[in-house]
Amino acid sequence: MDDNPFFETWDTPFGMPPFDHIRPEHFPPAFERGMEEQLSEIAAILAAPVPASFADTIEALERSGRLLERTSRVFHNLDASDTNPALEQIARDYAPRLAQHQTRIALDAGLFARIADLYARRDTLGLAPDQLRLLERHHLRLVRAGALLDSGQKARMAAINQRLATLHTLFGQNVLHDEREWQLVLDAADLDGLPQFARAVAAQAAEERGLAGKYVITLARSSIEPFLTFSSRRDLRRTAHQAWTARGTHPGAADNTPIIREIIGLRGEQARLLGYDNFAAYRLDDSMAKNDATVEQLLLRVWDPAKAKAREERADLEKIARADGLNEPIEPWDWRYYSERVRRARYDIDEAEVKPYFVLDNMVRAAFDSAGRLFGLTFTPRPDLPVYHPDVRAWEVRDRSGAHVGIFLHDNFARAGKRSGAWSSRYRDQHTLDAPVTPIVVNNNNFARSNAAGGEPTLLSFDDAETLFHEFGHGLHGLLSRVRYPSQSGTAVRRDFVEFPSQIFEHWMSVPENLRQYARHYQTGEPIPEPLLRRLLAARNFNEGFATVEYTASALIDLELHRDPAPENLDPERFEREFLARYEVPREIGLRHRPAHFQHLFAGGGYAAGYYAYLWAEVLDADGFAAFAEAGDAFDPALAARLKDIYSAGDTRDPMELYRAFRGHDPDIAALLRQRGLGASEGQADA
Ligand SMILES: [Zn+2]
Repeated sequence: MDDNPFFETWDTPFGMPPFDHIRPEHFPPAFERGMEEQLSEIAAILAAPVPASFADTIEALERSGRLLERTSRVFHNLDASDTNPALEQIARDYAPRLAQHQTRIALDAGLFARIADLYARRDTLGLAPDQLRLLERHHLRLVRAGALLDSGQKARMAAINQRLATLHTLFGQNVLHDEREWQLVLDAADLDGLPQFARAVAAQAAEERGLAGKYVITLARSSIEPFLTFSSRRDLRRTAHQAWTARGTHPGAADNTPIIREIIGLRGEQARLLGYDNFAAYRLDDSMAKNDATVEQLLLRVWDPAKAKAREERADLEKIARADGLNEPIEPWDWRYYSERVRRARYDIDEAEVKPYFVLDNMVRAAFDSAGRLFGLTFTPRPDLPVYHPDVRAWEVRDRSGAHVGIFLHDNFARAGKRSGAWSSRYRDQHTLDAPVTPIVVNNNNFARSNAAGGEPTLLSFDDAETLFHEFGHGLHGLLSRVRYPSQSGTAVRRDFVEFPSQIFEHWMSVPENLRQYARHYQTGEPIPEPLLRRLLAARNFNEGFATVEYTASALIDLELHRDPAPENLDPERFEREFLARYEVPREIGLRHRPAHFQHLFAGGGYAAGYYAYLWAEVLDADGFAAFAEAGDAFDPALAARLKDIYSAGDTRDPMELYRAFRGHDPDIAALLRQRGLGASEGQADA
């Protein structure tokens, strides 16, 4: 294995992974050596003199595991964006091994003793504020991992972590399996109602699957949502919608139902070992929200107004449906179709008329330009850099002085082997521990590609464009990071704060001056006509009842699943049925993510009992963006400079403190309710 790139220094520009040399077989030996190296680094910390110092313990810990980190970052990113059977097998093999390794370090009694000793003396060590917070966070992390448990309990914690890692991996692979397996192959005669752009995308998907001359609908959001919105074939909409919502539920090898049951049970057991009533209580104890009552209060604050608004929306849909001769209730596969018809009638907006103005490349430019005007960044294409797939574009990011800031990778298209959804990740984090290290950030989207060979540009929906800006906001959080220690870098903040930088950035997508400049017709280059722009902005809150119900129902079921009093006996299907009945979730809307494919909760632990974070952060982003509206300038330099401080701070400061320093006061929930058209309300958020 002498030629294993993970064992060599990368002489690529900016420390880019040498993707062209990395093969699946390089990962197992790199994982093995990476774990060994980190264990000997930990042993060296334990052998250092007593009493411990910040440098020989905390800083040494921050320095440890570089090879493992580098290997893991490349592996997990490739496995998410461009996987194959070899990588999937390695994921199954190494998920439990890596979890075991992490747990072993987290539960090492000697390491905890040194950190606990430092923690007890923390006020006498002369630490800078970022160092003090780093020490406190490491101490808390180990306590929350089980450092205070007895040896029998620790062994059980370790076994559970290992098993959970396997279950998370299987869950994600099962969803991908169901998404890959299903496609709806159509003939030209089946395309009634589909506008030209949707036909082009379906033709391109067919072409990529060797079905030239046909049309293919897939379960990628950017394929199925337009289909459900425009197809006048109710039978086909129903088929497609049922396949979409059935992901992860098919009996057999890829069934996620038993996996959910086991995950929920094991998480509950861990929480009880650590002295909490349930997993939600454990998870939320280390969040801005602090406890499940606060989260529930926020979710319920929007739940009834959202349902009331959705009822009004449904009445509008029914009117059009009846005029169409549909004398049955509106079904989940009807909502998007009829709501598009209402939107067209009420606002004179036709998605097919809007979409030609949202060219992917122009929206990317709009995002870059906004980051330039707000934060002084510039983006230069670097086609010379190695990338892992031909779809990926690499950009060099510089600041106002021309200094290198980092590398931004954009991976925008849906394809087989790529996880669904949109996400931001990093290949390398910014820090300055020993020498300045610049970040390498990646944004993944799943946009349906247009006919590339025919020279047609990829067109986005308004929502797609917002998603692009959202992930780019996370990207900026990584790129603008200015911290000393790796574990405080960029997005390493509390989960219910991490969506603030991404969600507030979404607002710049629809700033009128951006739309006037960048929303240009793909054929004529004409800017979006003013009347259409006005109608588009006027329709912003249209269908918000549906969107809020769909999201909030998912956040509520997440909370309820993770605070169930008897999680080991949980029957996921029955639980879901009873949940829908208890909360009176409108059946024609349902959940945005059903448990069986809710990857936020079960393909990893990150958003478990944490899906509320989007709404939590929306309290901040609605209130935060209102500051720019009040200033009368979406690019107000003083506000932008203060906002930049949030993007740069990583986890060096308390999030609410950061927010107040930017805004000058606590967030006010009224801005969120206005933003969603749910009626203004008095009072401060509990956040
Ligand atoms: Zn996000």
